[in-house]
Amino acid sequence: MAGMLYLVPTPIGNLGDISPRCRETLEAADFIAAEDTRVSLKLLNHLGIRKSLVSYHQHNQNQKGQGIVDRILAGETCALVSDAGSPAISDPGEELVKQCAQAGITVCAIPGPCALVTALSISGQSTGRFCFEGFLSTAKKSRMEHLESLRKETRTMIFYEAPHKLLSTLEDMEKVFGPQRPISLCRELTKLHEEVIRTTLSGALALYAQQSPKGEFVLVVAGAEPEEKPQATAEEAAAQVARLMEQGLSRKDAVKQTAEALGLPKNLVYDAALNL
Ligand code: SAM
Repeated sequence: MAGMLYLVPTPIGNLGDISPRCRETLEAADFIAAEDTRVSLKLLNHLGIRKSLVSYHQHNQNQKGQGIVDRILAGETCALVSDAGSPAISDPGEELVKQCAQAGITVCAIPGPCALVTALSISGQSTGRFCFEGFLSTAKKSRMEHLESLRKETRTMIFYEAPHKLLSTLEDMEKVFGPQRPISLCRELTKLHEEVIRTTLSGALALYAQQSPKGEFVLVVAGAEPEEKPQATAEEAAAQVARLMEQGLSRKDAVKQTAEALGLPKNLVYDAALNL
């Protein structure tokens, strides 16, 4: 019988955030695939777990992926961990999950620490609709293209960013989204110096002109204000009612349909149609 792949999230700063279920899964697995075996070894030592480790990262995932799939198909259970947070989210794992799914292997994701969810929930920005944009490219052209594609995005946007790239990212964001766009800079989450700076893009730039950014950041940027559709005029509404009546609709139905299509109150469309 085939084994299973478990995606095991690990703390993004505070070791207390490892859950009993994650610990049990790591203990029970036949082997652990780790982004950086040295980083994971520290965590395993802290947990008192001794287990065989396989390195699985961005640069060896093509060669290593099939080997891991084969071992699982042969009946072993694999726990995948990244350096911190949830595997497969801006971290190795995405390909392995695809390969396992294709091979008919059961994949189980254990919920747990994830920088983007932690940041969004304390950002103070709207959380109802959001999009995760991962890391922006280091190449200026594709970074700007990425941001340009988000110019009209109305959902809250979440980005991962490294401190040494933060200033240029904020500058580019200001160019595309404007200086007054609200941003929450969520820094060093779950760590001793955890901080959330809720400001605007120009405010963030002013702040980091005075001090250099340190630590790990998640940027939560407010979405654009929805564009207001220009209101249709009474004449346009009346003309549409007339067209629909010519096509055979009753005045009542034509008014109803026009009001819905143009987002206007029915009585306004009715009056406009009568004055035609
Ligand atoms: N898979 C991980 C997750 O979803 O939590 C993210 C891995 S990604 C390679 C690393 C990025 O996550 C960092 O550059 C930073 O943007 C963000 N991050 C990770 N830990 C963080 C923390 N404690 N505070 C703020 N951001 C963090």
